[in-house]
Amino acid sequence: MTTVHGLACRIDNRSLRVTIGRVLAQIRQRRPSDYRRLKARLRRFRYLPQSAVAQGLGGQARKLGKPPVRPKRLLSLAESAEFHRTVEAWPYLCPYEVLLPRSLASEPTWLQCATIAHELGHVALRRIDEIRRSTVDDRWFTYEWTLELVADWYAYGWGFGRDIRRHGPRRDVQHHFIAPGSELTFQSGGRFRLTRRFVFRRITQPRRPPTDPWLTV
Ligand SMILES: [Zn+2]
Repeated sequence: MTTVHGLACRIDNRSLRVTIGRVLAQIRQRRPSDYRRLKARLRRFRYLPQSAVAQGLGGQARKLGKPPVRPKRLLSLAESAEFHRTVEAWPYLCPYEVLLPRSLASEPTWLQCATIAHELGHVALRRIDEIRRSTVDDRWFTYEWTLELVADWYAYGWGFGRDIRRHGPRRDVQHHFIAPGSELTFQSGGRFRLTRRFVFRRITQPRRPPTDPWLTV
């Protein structure tokens, strides 16, 4: 089994493996604590199955294992509280794998970096990151948006902002990305700006709740 930075890597393309190594090395250099968290959570890199590629996925950070299951017996108050704490903490402690499409190997290095850094950004997720980027108004922005903002915020912080920005036009704005400093205007009213810290700020009050999720940048 090949490894990259001590992590299992089932990616048989050498250039893609080298890029994974470069991305991890840059994270180690820029944000050592993020690097340590990634190393603790990540179990492996592997190729994205063809079925997922066919659905339009460009990469995936996948949780492994199952959340804790409530014991089938009456729990004391303290046990119950402890159980809820472990369930809530699970997304921030669970193991992950990162899946990359085979076709990424023939793409330019900047696109490989943008994809790998974004997926690693999902793995780095902490509760505090979510709270900071919880949406300004959940009638407009779903939890999925919050997770994508967190992933990109990490990728920018690790120095891959230029690559992510370059990838932007190819990404699906519906659930993925706008560049920090840019604005979103919903068809049904409401303008929002994404700050440099990847937090949406309202610019104009929506006339009414969105009836159509379509939006423009
Ligand atoms: Zn994502």
